[in-house]
Amino acid sequence: MSTHIHDAVIVGAGFGGMGAAIQLRRSGYDDLVILEREDDLGGTWHVNRYPGLAVDIPSSTYSYSFEPNPHWTRLFAPGAELKQYAETVADKYDLRRMMRFDTVVEGAHWDEDDSAWSVSIEGGETVRGRFLLTATGFLSQPKNPDIAGINDFAGEVIHTTRWNDDIDLEGKRIGIIGTGATAVQLIPELAKVADHLTVYQRTPIYVSPKMDGPVPGVVRGAFARVPLTQKATRLVSASILELLMVAGVLHFKDLPWANRIGKQVCERHLRSQVKDRELRAKLTPDYDFGCKRPTFSNTYFPTFTQPHVDLETTTIDHVDADGIVTVDGTRADLDVLVLATGFNLWDVNFPAIEIIGREGRNLGKWWRDNRFSAYEGISVPSFPNFFSLNSPYSYSGLSYFTTIETQMAHMARLLKAMKKRDADVFEVSEEANQEFLDRMTGLMGNSVFNAGDCSTARSYYFNQHGEAVLLRPTSTVSAHREAVRFPLEDYAFSTT
Ligand code: NAP
Repeated sequence: MSTHIHDAVIVGAGFGGMGAAIQLRRSGYDDLVILEREDDLGGTWHVNRYPGLAVDIPSSTYSYSFEPNPHWTRLFAPGAELKQYAETVADKYDLRRMMRFDTVVEGAHWDEDDSAWSVSIEGGETVRGRFLLTATGFLSQPKNPDIAGINDFAGEVIHTTRWNDDIDLEGKRIGIIGTGATAVQLIPELAKVADHLTVYQRTPIYVSPKMDGPVPGVVRGAFARVPLTQKATRLVSASILELLMVAGVLHFKDLPWANRIGKQVCERHLRSQVKDRELRAKLTPDYDFGCKRPTFSNTYFPTFTQPHVDLETTTIDHVDADGIVTVDGTRADLDVLVLATGFNLWDVNFPAIEIIGREGRNLGKWWRDNRFSAYEGISVPSFPNFFSLNSPYSYSGLSYFTTIETQMAHMARLLKAMKKRDADVFEVSEEANQEFLDRMTGLMGNSVFNAGDCSTARSYYFNQHGEAVLLRPTSTVSAHREAVRFPLEDYAFSTT
């Protein structure tokens, strides 16, 4: 085992892990190691490469506020530009030298003896750190559907997170399972090249019009020369997203009309694009707007009106060597099967690695045996010097960068307080954690998740306890205010 103790070990080299590293360096910690299981940085934006991939939040908001990018070519930038942006940030903040790729972390435990984390890596190596930060993402463990015979399929099977760039889809008979946000982007692209496309939908999704388009060169020039113009654009788009989230989703009980507006916008969009009543009925969700993440597209609905595209809503019975058979006996012969089946959050994530804190407390077990909780969505009692960046109630607002920067602010305040006290260990109290959980639970009662009808949504926001604990049920403004003002007494500080 290595005797060197780094200032911090960060697990994950996506935008979350990089933001955390930038904050740690700002707070005076420079001996960092960032462990990444993939072969390059960028997280989601490195892993996902499927055709049609683009950000589903306006690009003006989907970046670090302190590192605006004036070069986005579209209002909703394509995935490759996000990957490029991640590389630019890593270079500018000199983070690459701290990163170790193809490094799969198995687990971490707190060593009481020398107040440090020991992080075990596949292959037997151990890396040690004063602080541990997990930035493993919410949507990083691909879900393969449990469908009989799926391994018998003789053609190519591709999960959207493992896109095969070499596969030639031209003129192929393609089947795709899933109609989430990923499929909404991918289906129109597959339809362009397929001889025949069969879409297997279990639950329809709300889709609203996408106000997309190229960002004219003159605007990009203005953003580069006068950053204030881009800041103003960001403020406007962030405010719209905030309104959508707070009024339409979190304050469902008080403002049901706001939620209805969201639903009506999507239904009107569907009506304007699909004239066939039967097809429209199949594409219409029967749960409340916001129960699962709605998405934007101008090309998704019209794809189903093309003669070579079928929308199959009958349950899949099994897959065999030649294709898919539904429970009514209908068979579709396929050359390629695409799995747009999303991610497993609640069985294999939260946490994505085994984490053992004080007195052997196992985070995953503790969350499952009790309730999922994390003070301010970032720290957990009995886990000293641990920043859990993908925690229950941590996701704030719609752009992931809001969450990242709120957590950076929390870290800044906490680390400053430690330095002031000459402490080297922090730990949040059980009481503060419980109080936060009770407060979030109370607020959640107002949201569409608790007050609305989400019973048929099959939303990944809900965990195995039936609780929607992924999103923080407050405005991003309030989350940020708490990050810079939380009572320091909520933490115990000690010096070893
Ligand atoms: P998802 O929303 O979880 O959708 C998975 C789809 O697969 C659902 O339609 C699901 O149906 C279906 N499915 C899963 N298992 C199945 C089975 N056994 N049989 C039949 N159908 C099955 O996953 P996603 O589309 O990958 O999107 C996940 C999230 O990624 C989004 O909500 C969004 O936040 C994010 N995303 C972001 C971007 C971006 O640009 N930033 C782009 C794409 C995605 P049920 O609904 O019935 O379970």
